[in-house]
Amino acid sequence: MLQFLRNLPKIELHAHLNGSLNIDSIRELAAKVYGVQTKEFSTLCERFIKFEKGAKLDDCFEKFGFVHELTSTKEGLEYATELVIRDFAKDNVIYVELRTTPKANGNMSRRSYLDTVLGVIKNKSDLYKIKVKLLPSINRAEPVAVAEETVALAVELATIEPEIIVGIDFSGNPNQGNFKDFIPVLSKARNHGLKLAMHCAEVDNPVEIREMIRFGMSRCGHGTYLSDSGFEHMKEENIPIECCLTSNVKSGTVANIGAHHLKQLMATCAPKVLCTDDSGVFDTTLSDEFFLATESFGLTKSQCIALTMEAVEHAFATREEKLMLKMQIYKYTRLQNK
Ligand SMILES: [Zn+2]
Repeated sequence: MLQFLRNLPKIELHAHLNGSLNIDSIRELAAKVYGVQTKEFSTLCERFIKFEKGAKLDDCFEKFGFVHELTSTKEGLEYATELVIRDFAKDNVIYVELRTTPKANGNMSRRSYLDTVLGVIKNKSDLYKIKVKLLPSINRAEPVAVAEETVALAVELATIEPEIIVGIDFSGNPNQGNFKDFIPVLSKARNHGLKLAMHCAEVDNPVEIREMIRFGMSRCGHGTYLSDSGFEHMKEENIPIECCLTSNVKSGTVANIGAHHLKQLMATCAPKVLCTDDSGVFDTTLSDEFFLATESFGLTKSQCIALTMEAVEHAFATREEKLMLKMQIYKYTRLQNK
């Protein structure tokens, strides 16, 4: 089964750029950014030894800290973006939507951050035989003015690269920021044709969940604390829940894998997609996530194929792209049946 899943051409719709670098790729990135002979590199390697002996969640997030530092220059960000694309391609992901919050620092403006990521996507996707889209992220913990700048840039860059910039991600610490404050800027994005992938119901905040549902979205990230009527609404509106099993278990938003809402979504034939969220932070791959679903909920090979086809439907891709993706998946499954 695991081999079948590894070889299956897959679709990844919920992946944060910085969180998707696995430990080997972070080491590779550090070697490139710092140089292998430097003190910074050896300090970083020492810390990795600690992670490898049974990492805890705090350690996982510490890994994130390194990545932010390593991607704070144009060169580091370029290489990190390429490594993430390469790693998804290695796992036979044929289509990925990457999310990232444009960060401004002494080296880069938010515009040059997005330009850098876009440049790598344009130049490297063909090399790794993968279709890559970009969703600039709004970090709800940051001021609305930052979100306004991000959306203005996304709208402008989407006119130049409409094939790549296809939507906006709304994410960040769900206990910070007020969703209502972001409604005008999210509306602006939507009015300009950008799709909205929103982290929603990650924590038990019924008032905000209702506001988000009322506002609407194209896809719902996590949806862990949706009520039965919330799930019902998503089904009626054909809004898929982006299910990130390992992420939800490791970050403790579901009690255990058996209690994950994927089970309910499968049973009620509600729209859903399987995703990794932060494959590096949570030490997983999309193949591993599918395997976990087969082990935990008894999914068959054909259910995994159906889930992949469902992900194609919910991708922010053109009709032609969806057709191509479906053909690739179909070709693989036909070979399996021979
Ligand atoms: Zn996420």
